[in-house]
Amino acid sequence: MTTKHEMKMNNEQKSTANAVHIDSNLVLEVHDLTKKYIVGNGTVTALNNVNLHVKKGELVAIVGPSGSGKTTMINCLGALDFPDSGKIIYNVDGKELGLDITQMTNKQHKKMRLTKIGLIFQFYNLFPILTAYENVELPMLFAKKDTKVRKQRVTSLLKRVGLEKRMDHLPTQMSGGEQQRVTIARSLVNMPLILLADEPTGELDTETTTTIMQIFLDLKNTGQSILMVTHNHRIAEVADRILSLKDGRIVEEREGGKALEDIYKN
Ligand code: ADP
Repeated sequence: MTTKHEMKMNNEQKSTANAVHIDSNLVLEVHDLTKKYIVGNGTVTALNNVNLHVKKGELVAIVGPSGSGKTTMINCLGALDFPDSGKIIYNVDGKELGLDITQMTNKQHKKMRLTKIGLIFQFYNLFPILTAYENVELPMLFAKKDTKVRKQRVTSLLKRVGLEKRMDHLPTQMSGGEQQRVTIARSLVNMPLILLADEPTGELDTETTTTIMQIFLDLKNTGQSILMVTHNHRIAEVADRILSLKDGRIVEEREGGKALEDIYKN
C-alpha cells in the first residue's frame, strides 16, 4: 500500500528528475562538492570535495581565512552558481523529499532563492530607493502573496528584528546594524528552509555584531536552520557546530555552543 507521503513523493518525482532521498532530520546535505575557477592558463580549486550537512533547527558556522572558499560555498549552496561536481540536496518537504539543486535550471534556481533559501550578505544588498518595509515586502510580491498576508508578515518580521520604528526609513537613513536587520527580515519573509549568511557581521562593530548574533540564536531557538560563513572565530563559537575550511577543504569539525556573553572573554 502506498502512503500519502510516498504518493506525494511519486508525484513530485515525476515533475522533478532531481528528486532524491534525504534524512528527515536534515535540511541540507552536501556531497563531494568541487568548484574550480580557470585563471590564466591554470585552475584554482576553490572547493575540493566538500561534504557537510545541516540538521533542522541547527546553527552551523563555517570558518576559514580569506581565500579558503567561503564565498564560493555560499554561492553554490545559495543557488547563485553551479559547482563542477557534487550534490547539494535540500529537504523540501520537511520529510524525506530531497532536491539536488546542482541539477536545476537557472529558472529553478531563482525559485529556490525566492521561496526556500534566505540569503544574507556582508554588504546588505538593499534597494536604496525602497524603505525598510518595501525591501522586506519585495520577495513576497515576487512570490505573489496577497496584500493582507504581506502586511501581517512584513510588520511582524520587522518587529521581530526590533525595527518597528524604522519601517519607513530608507537604507541611507539607517545604521549598518539596522540595515543588516532589514536583510534578515527580508531573508525570512517567504519562510525559507534555511538562512545562508555570508560574513553577516563583517562590516559591524562588536556591539552590533552581538545584536545580530542574538537574532540568529533566537531564530535558531524557534527552529530556523542557519548556515553562516565567517572569518570571525569568536562569533562562530556560538554555533552548534563549527566547520573549518582551508584551501577548499573541511579540515576540522567541532562543537560550539558558547554563550554569546562569553565570546569576547578569553
Ligand atoms: P573566501 O570567501 O574564503 O575568501 P573565495 O570563495 O572568495 O574565498 O575564494 C576561494 C578561491 O577561489 C580563492 O583562491 C580565490 O582567489 C578564488 N576565486 C574566487 N572567485 C573566483 C573567480 N571568480 N575567478 C577566479 N578565482 C576565483
